[in-house]
Amino acid sequence: MSILSGLNPAPVWTYFVEICKIPRLSKNEGKIRTYLLEFAEMHNLPSKEDSVGNILITKPAYPGFENTKTIVLQSHMDMVGEKNSDYPHNWLTDPIVPFIEDGFVRARGTTLGADDGIGIASQMAVLTDSGIKAGKIECLFTVDEETGMTGAMNLQRGFFEGKRLINLDSEDEGILFIGCAGGMDTIGSLKYKSIPVRDGSAGIEISVTGLRGGHSGDEIHKGFGNSVKLMTRILRSLQEKFGISVNRFDGGNLRNAIPREALAVIAADNTVKNEVIEWVMAFQNILNGEFGEIEKDLRIAAKEIEVPSTVMNRDSQARLLNSLNCCPHGVIAWSHEMDDLVETSTNLASVNFAENNVIKIITTQRSSIESSKHDVAGMVESCLSLAGAEVIHSDGYPGWKPSLKSEILKITRKSYIRLFGKEPLVRAIHAGLECGLFFEKFKGLDMISFGPSIRGAHTPEEKIEIKTVQMFWDLLIDVICTDQS
Ligand SMILES: [Zn+2]
Repeated sequence: MSILSGLNPAPVWTYFVEICKIPRLSKNEGKIRTYLLEFAEMHNLPSKEDSVGNILITKPAYPGFENTKTIVLQSHMDMVGEKNSDYPHNWLTDPIVPFIEDGFVRARGTTLGADDGIGIASQMAVLTDSGIKAGKIECLFTVDEETGMTGAMNLQRGFFEGKRLINLDSEDEGILFIGCAGGMDTIGSLKYKSIPVRDGSAGIEISVTGLRGGHSGDEIHKGFGNSVKLMTRILRSLQEKFGISVNRFDGGNLRNAIPREALAVIAADNTVKNEVIEWVMAFQNILNGEFGEIEKDLRIAAKEIEVPSTVMNRDSQARLLNSLNCCPHGVIAWSHEMDDLVETSTNLASVNFAENNVIKIITTQRSSIESSKHDVAGMVESCLSLAGAEVIHSDGYPGWKPSLKSEILKITRKSYIRLFGKEPLVRAIHAGLECGLFFEKFKGLDMISFGPSIRGAHTPEEKIEIKTVQMFWDLLIDVICTDQS
């Protein structure tokens, strides 16, 4: 007997427990693919696989419903593998061990994989439920959503027929998602000249730490500090007031995170070194005044260290600091159509003194409107190329522009009100979903995304709220069984 038996809806949880036993990290989906294909065969359901490993399993229409519109249910097969450092877990062989705690299901020491295992389990429950009176249902399972969306990216036109798709990969019960942002990277490589440090110089290390950071999509509008921007401000002021020279400046590391820390090494004339350190320490008060409670752990520090042997020459230093200073960061535009939706943003993600006197500057742009994404990427490119940097853009992925006129939205909203007696929230997210790729590729596809409540996804604290799984299931079945004609 499984620890989760007794939870409702029983078929969804039964399949979820099965899936937990199958290792399925991104790019290692072989076992779950085999499992799904065997499942289809066992239940006499037509299935197919494409060249990148996406799977489609089809449930024929209920007798008499052959003329009802086909509906596509979509989830992703892979999961993020994060674990507590002291928990022994082999991601290629070991099962996830779920347990119940305070109304939630979570896992021992690891991510639970409810993102998107609960989507997969509910598709399997739909496929094996003989009582669902609906037209043909196509269940699409994509590979590798979490590390590049290559499954969705390589999906071929015609792999499924339905013109309405429900994405089962969102994490907030009570919210219907109808749009997402596309994203791309803009990366600058700036060559610089170094010169020997002047005699009579002192070395000083400056650090910016303790910022909140956060996801560059979901949290870009929260006004958190950007360590690269703050360090740039400090260095420009010190350049102006004390004529300091920069030896190196590194900050940020993940392209999709707002940078939390930065470290710089500078050379200052011995006669002003104490003043420089005092000025930096005092700058903390100015920043506290600007950020207040929102960045209460922010810490600016400076200390004397060994003198570096070289520093940037004047011209290189000015070009670096000017370009970082004018490079935009944060929200560029809010949606005119949907309240509280960031439409376009950019994240100045990191600066790094790499080998061969090259500085790498990494930035990411997001927008639910494709042309706006390219517009802001161009803005960033201008700042970097004015400084003499070589700039490249990644291909990125497209957004899904929300439409309040969507039929599947109307159907789902009505179902939600009928079932739960209240209005659902209708939102778009400022982060990527596979729907953006479907939106671009399958013109006219009508889509919506909803799911049960999952907290702490992509961390060992990931948990799914049990009561919302039943609500999610009731809504899903109601929408599927609504006349889709
Ligand atoms: Zn997911």
